Amino acid sequence: MNATPAPICDRALSVVVPVYNEEAGIDELMRRVEAVCAAQYPDDYEILLVNDGSSDDSWAHICRHADAKPHVVGINLSRNHGHQLALAAGLEHVRGELVFVLDADLQDPPELLGEMVATIADGADVVYGQRTARAGETAFKRGTAALFYRFLQTMTDVAIPRDTGDFRLMTRRVVEQLKAMPERYRFVRGMVSWIGLRQVAVPYERDARFAGQTNYPLRKMIGLAVDAVTSFSTVPLRFASHLGMAFGLLGILALGWVGWGWLSGEAVQGWASLAALILIIGSVQLMVLGVFGEYLGRMYMEAKGRPLFIVDEIRTRESAEGAGNA
Ligand code: UDP
Ligand code: MG
Repeated sequence: MNATPAPICDRALSVVVPVYNEEAGIDELMRRVEAVCAAQYPDDYEILLVNDGSSDDSWAHICRHADAKPHVVGINLSRNHGHQLALAAGLEHVRGELVFVLDADLQDPPELLGEMVATIADGADVVYGQRTARAGETAFKRGTAALFYRFLQTMTDVAIPRDTGDFRLMTRRVVEQLKAMPERYRFVRGMVSWIGLRQVAVPYERDARFAGQTNYPLRKMIGLAVDAVTSFSTVPLRFASHLGMAFGLLGILALGWVGWGWLSGEAVQGWASLAALILIIGSVQLMVLGVFGEYLGRMYMEAKGRPLFIVDEIRTRESAEGAGNA
């Protein structure tokens, strides 16, 4: 383990929830999360709600909880940074010995906490939820998700468990390692796998959203998939040379065929096939350039070294009281 300055660790448990346009679900979320936490660690837990630039009233709801209860911390990001960075913002502020990450939409049942804590007590460092069923999701989403996990597995050297989201319980030493990874294009579940240590799966049935609708449309899902592949694999770069060799071989075969025709007095003619070949080769070259571009662009963005997220406000009961006295 790397030597890091001693982090504040004065709670048994921190719960981190990224929130984006979830106003209709926050009260129910708090009710269920508070119930399981209070049963497990009465008065020794905190819930960090990270508002990721919601355009609805999510932040007002978060403030209402944070102002009223000592165990709730509201973190307001300056704008929408995306799920993975909102998660990073939450992890940056945890004070617990164990860290529980779940979605705000109650698709991940908080009631699994007890089982996860027991598994950690048995010596695990990470307990992740593995989905056995996904209620209320379209066949398209299920199909693309399944494909994605299998594709990722063939591309990466790190074993990233399939059908696993960010729903997990981690020990603080894992979280400290995560915080020490400065990358901007974050695929948190992959980064946790990369860390290693003892990781155990807990199967669960993924519920339907409690309220609202998914904030991961196809566009964002593809973005996350590209982040995942480029963060964990250079296979696409190697793919370029394989493609080059394959087309080179094809060219040599074609040349042999044309030469054979010429020798046997049958000159091959026609510009159409030539034009098609040029188009194919051209498109393959551009595609490979595009893959290079993905990596290069990411290197450029990483090289800037900008902060991963900007926090606008941290809301706790003390800060609300302080504002009231001023
Ligand atoms: N989320 C976020 N920022 C975003 C999109 C989503 O913080 O830009 C949060 C969202 O509020 C939820 C979690 O990330 O708590 C997962 O999002 P969602 O439920 O929309 O994804 P899905 O479960 O459909 O994959
Ligand atoms: Mg969801």
